[in-house]
Amino acid sequence: MRPVLVAGNWKMHTTVKSAVELAASVVRGLEADPRLRVAVCPPFPYLLPVAEVLRGSPVGLGAQNLYPKPEGAFTGEVSPAMLRDCGCQYVIVGHSERRHVLGESDAFINEKVLAGLAAGLTVIFCIGETLAERDAGLTHAVLDRQLTNGLAGVADDAWSRLVIAYEPVWAIGTGRNATPDQAQDAQAFVRRRVAQLASAAVADNLIIQYGGSVKPDNAASLLSQPDVDGALVGGASLKADQFLAIVRAAV
Ligand code: PEP
Repeated sequence: MRPVLVAGNWKMHTTVKSAVELAASVVRGLEADPRLRVAVCPPFPYLLPVAEVLRGSPVGLGAQNLYPKPEGAFTGEVSPAMLRDCGCQYVIVGHSERRHVLGESDAFINEKVLAGLAAGLTVIFCIGETLAERDAGLTHAVLDRQLTNGLAGVADDAWSRLVIAYEPVWAIGTGRNATPDQAQDAQAFVRRRVAQLASAAVADNLIIQYGGSVKPDNAASLLSQPDVDGALVGGASLKADQFLAIVRAAV
């Protein structure tokens, strides 16, 4: 049976104080389960204080982005090695806000995926269609393009550190989640496509999260779908009780 990964994407929220308190509340409230993996992804400046809080706990630390170079004259950017140095196990790559607000291309995202994996991080690779693309019947075509381009060149031994988050753009931060059937259809397609890109065994073991307005009241129905192996949670991850309720629904 595949593990379940619930990760909180705190985006550009929290302060040092509230980040530390939120992380501590997640650690305190977590009930152990052998299938369960949990991670939180604070903003860069709060990685170190949150890492201190998470030390020795089952909650993993993730970053929300990286720059795909080991070091150098890249003002304002953060390398995969720096993330490792701060205690990160995970990094989010290809989030729709970076694709659509900050203009990141499939090719640049691919560089980030490869750099994150090469540094030993588990990469949470986000994909998803816009509302116009869904309405035009292009959901599978968009996912296919994002998977094919974004995962080009992933080494055979790196697939086990890849997680895919299916996040329909129209569901992120909107309060409008995909239906369980929509999530299942898209995620089953993703798994079939990964079987072609890598192998059936890789696809079988791949964690595919759903993301997009996951809340305590819709988590159980989304997460009970056979190809939904957890959630990437934005807004609801900023409240420990809501995040923990989603985690409980996942197992
Ligand atoms: C996200 O940031 O990845 C996300 C899914 O946000 P929200 O849960 O707020 O829709």
